[in-house]
Parts: sequence; C-alpha cells; structure tokens
Amino acid sequence: MRSNLIVCLVASVFLTSPVKADVTVIKVAHIIVDASKPVLGAGIIVVRDGKIIAVGNTMPALKPNEPVKTIDLGSRTAMPGFIDSHVHLSSDPGTPWYMESVLSDPYQTAIGTKNALLTVKAGFTTVRDVGSQADVGFALRDAINNGVIVGPRMLSSGPAISIIGGHGDTSGFRREVNDALSAGNHNTCTGADQCAARVREAARAGADVIKITATGGVLSSQSRGLDQHFTDAELRSIVSTATTLGLKVAAHAHGARGIESAARAGVASIEHGTFADDAALKVMKVNGTYMVPTLMASTGLNDRVGKGIYLPQVEAKARAALAIWGKALAKASQMGIPIAFGTDSGVFEHGRNGEEFALMVSKGGMSPRAAIASATTVAAKLLGLDREIGTLEVGKSADIVAVDADPLADIHTLEHPAFVMARGSIIVTP
Ligand SMILES: [Zn+2]
Repeated sequence: MRSNLIVCLVASVFLTSPVKADVTVIKVAHIIVDASKPVLGAGIIVVRDGKIIAVGNTMPALKPNEPVKTIDLGSRTAMPGFIDSHVHLSSDPGTPWYMESVLSDPYQTAIGTKNALLTVKAGFTTVRDVGSQADVGFALRDAINNGVIVGPRMLSSGPAISIIGGHGDTSGFRREVNDALSAGNHNTCTGADQCAARVREAARAGADVIKITATGGVLSSQSRGLDQHFTDAELRSIVSTATTLGLKVAAHAHGARGIESAARAGVASIEHGTFADDAALKVMKVNGTYMVPTLMASTGLNDRVGKGIYLPQVEAKARAALAIWGKALAKASQMGIPIAFGTDSGVFEHGRNGEEFALMVSKGGMSPRAAIASATTVAAKLLGLDREIGTLEVGKSADIVAVDADPLADIHTLEHPAFVMARGSIIVTP
C-alpha cells in the first residue's frame, strides 16, 4: 500500500514536470521581442539552461555534442511571457465570505498549487500575489522557486496590511469571533509607529512587496465605504519604512480620495483605481504612480451579482464598481500614467487572466500594443524585474509565449496560448 502510494507520487511528479533539454531551438514566423518595437519576421529563439542565448536568424555556437531540441511553431507569433501584477493564487471565486476563516492554511496552499499551474498554462510566467492568508503565499512562491510545484515566477506580499475593521481585517462575525480569528494576525495597524512595525514584520516574514488596503474593498464584509482608510501620516510611514527595506508598496484603492492620498504618500502602484477622478490621476501622474486596473475583477463581480452569493453591503459596492467599469483606466492611459497589467484572479477563475487584454482595449481604450506592453515591459519594471523578464533578449529568462494569430490584430488570441515556456521549461506545446 505504502509503496504503491510512493510509486503513484513519483509517477505524478514526472507527469507534471516540464520537459527540459540542454538547448532548445524555437523556430517561429513572427517574434515580438519588445512590445514597443517592430515585430521581427521568421527566426529562431535559442534557449539554454533557462536563459535566452539568441534571438533572430543566427544560430549561436554550441558545445560539442550538446543535445538540441527543436520546436517548430510554424506561422505563430512568439512573445515574452505575460506578467500579472495582481493575483490571489490561494483564493477561488464564489467561495462564501466566511470560508477564509474556515479553510485551513494547508488547504489554501493546495488551492494555490492548483491555481499556479492553471496560471502558467495561460501564458503568465510571472505573477505578483498581493494577498494571501498567513504564510500561504510565501510557501507557494518558495515551492515554485525550488521546483517542488509547477507555476509562474512569483512575488508575494503575504497578507495585506489594513486598518482595524478594514479590507483585510477579519470582520462580519460576532465581536468575540472576530477577536479570536484575528488573534495572532499581524496585518492591522493604527498610527505611524505601529504601521512601520507591520511593514518590518512583513519584510521579516519574507514579503517581496508591501500590500496595503488604502481604502475599503468591494468583497470584504466591511461597510465603511470605499474611500481613504489609512491616515496620511500612516501612509507616509508605511511608504518610508518599506523604502528603507528596499520594498515597494502596492496600494489597493478604489475611492478617489484614497487613491490621491496613497499616491501622494509615494506608493508604487494603485491597485484597481476604480473611482479615480482627475485630481487623483493628476497626483498619480506627478508621482509616477502605476495603475494596475484589474478590469477582470469586475467580470468576476458581473458573473455573480444578483445571485445571492454576496452580502447586501457587498452587492451594493459591486454594483457601484460595475457602473464605471474601465472609465478610470481610459482616463489614466490617455494621461500617460503607466499601466501595469493585473487582473485580481481569485475574484474570477484562475487561468482566465488573458481576458484582461481585450478588456483593456474595449473598456480602457488602450491599443493592443499598449496592452501587451502593460503585461510585459511595464509590469516587469513595476515588479523590479526588468533586467530578467519583459522582453525576449539574450541573457533574459526564457519566458516565452506563442499565439496562433497576430495579437496586434486579434487581441483575443492571447487568451489561449499555443506554446508556453517558463524559465526554459516547456509548459504548453502545440
Ligand atoms: Zn486583489
């Protein structure tokens, strides 16, 4: 029985392990090396040990007897692997609000393992997870990095930091139940000093980025509005403390004044930015703040409103957000605010991340080229990984996606990549 179990485990590890050869030569008809540059014609991309060693028409010199695997992608278009700057791998959509307090952390890690594979198969070779329970996000990140599970390169914030009773704190239960569930959590703060301490604790626990909920949130059972939650002094303290630790701050923010105050305090990105008005966008523009629009989150809401899934206060917030879907992104992109691709997967089904591209075009008024840049070069910069990912260049990570149609003409082709390579390992092959 026990040996059978071991055989099964070993077999399944081999079945899900990506194929790896020493050198892989990818032949393809079109290559988008950099979303801002002209598309190259037929050529090759050569990969060794997870890195790109050639792009174009010239085969580099190989070592004697070096094994070579050739993949012919035919008439397809190859491009850099996609980056999703806003995911929640350990959450699934439609889960009743109280379940985060029922499901154990190991169970949520199992959910995240499933979703990591779905995400990388969809062409997303890098993600930034901006909110998980306890150490779940860090465990997933480390398991992927160590090759224990298959998934995208992952940055994790761990649990988001919020105000007491805000989006991210335990709420919705009787006082003593809230208190019991919050015991041992270190993700709420009051006052500049305590907020600085929370940032340092997150850094100590292994956070790659500090995630704060600068305003109320649509899906939490709190009903304290969608506007500014932290004080200006708390925001400044969070940003300056994170900066001393070499960390950026990603601020969940829906309401205009919450967006404005977070941007003024110097956060690197506004996540969602739903109700951003001209004044808020001006402050973002002046401060070089990125917007991570997460239009797919509204698809998740749209699929579920009116079905008795959400609490009444959540239903009201969801309808308000849906009423102005994409409006803030359209204004922000017109103003030249950097837009980093992010979806909020977990609010909708993981693996549908690529549907954000078409929404950025149809609702956000962006060009297909700008939408692709947002998921490659721009997001790479926001994540501080632009020397490693975001373009197909010699020395960069072999994170490569190929699609059937020309994505500049048919943006929906990005939703179903025919080929995915992550750090040199083949995940999807035609
Ligand atoms: Zn989110």
